[in-house]
Amino acid sequence: MPLYMDDVVALRKQHPCGGDTWRVVRLGADIGLRCLTCGRRVLVRRSEVERDIKRFVERPLAPAD
Ligand SMILES: [Zn+2]
Repeated sequence: MPLYMDDVVALRKQHPCGGDTWRVVRLGADIGLRCLTCGRRVLVRRSEVERDIKRFVERPLAPAD
């Protein structure tokens, strides 16, 4: 499943703050995610993110790269 910068996704795994909605802020073997509830950033393995995606909340119209 392709992920792009600035995608907003809801994951099955919740952040300790209770939020489950994240924005993609870095792409690579590890995906950088910013919790939209508390603003903290985490790094998660791409395979783990892809497995945990519950739904796409928002997708940029034109991926930058
Ligand atoms: Zn959070």
